[in-house]
Amino acid sequence: MKWRIISFFVFVLLSSFHQPYVVSSLNDYIKLIQKDPSKTLVDIKKFCPSIMIDIRYATSNNFLKFPIYSKAKAYARFPVALALTNIQKEIEPLGLSLKIYDAYRPYSVTRKMWQLTNGSPYVANPVYGSVHNRATAVDLTLVNIEDSTEVPMPSQYDEFNIKASHQYYNVQRSFINNRNLLKRIMEKHGFKANEHEWWHYDFQNYQQYELLDISFEDLESIP
Ligand SMILES: [Zn+2]
Repeated sequence: MKWRIISFFVFVLLSSFHQPYVVSSLNDYIKLIQKDPSKTLVDIKKFCPSIMIDIRYATSNNFLKFPIYSKAKAYARFPVALALTNIQKEIEPLGLSLKIYDAYRPYSVTRKMWQLTNGSPYVANPVYGSVHNRATAVDLTLVNIEDSTEVPMPSQYDEFNIKASHQYYNVQRSFINNRNLLKRIMEKHGFKANEHEWWHYDFQNYQQYELLDISFEDLESIP
């Protein structure tokens, strides 16, 4: 028992010193994408203009109640942007569009969120980083093209409680069907659902993409 307690504290101590590898200079990022162009970050709105974006962390309409992003930008690695474009093409004939709440998140923002929330279980631990920091995760929902209204889901975006779970069924059948429709189409195109957040999807093999800390301004400066 004593050893278990000691090893636990050693683990906590080591974790607090562990710094993951993060690509944090624009030069290093450019070298990386010259070597492997599939790792390029793509501005989703420019790549597929019909996809709607509502970057909540660039507004006060988020769980922090103030903007934490300097710009309302949705960037993702090239294969992720391509998959989202294919999904958009598939759902448009149904009168639906994707609406992105969040995509690439610079690593320093994850660190800031962790500090501001005193290590909330709903915020990624900077020791590991978030899949959003790899530009391989998206938070999104479905919207009716005709009137731009969001398709009803069992909870609001970033509503951190049981209603956000894929296992929550104590709600209208049509809301569950909407959640399932989003899941089915996303998983068909290489994304994996997060059990606890119906809006969050990780792209396949995200581990092969580095954590990044490149600002939106620096990304925009690349010709
Ligand atoms: Zn997310």
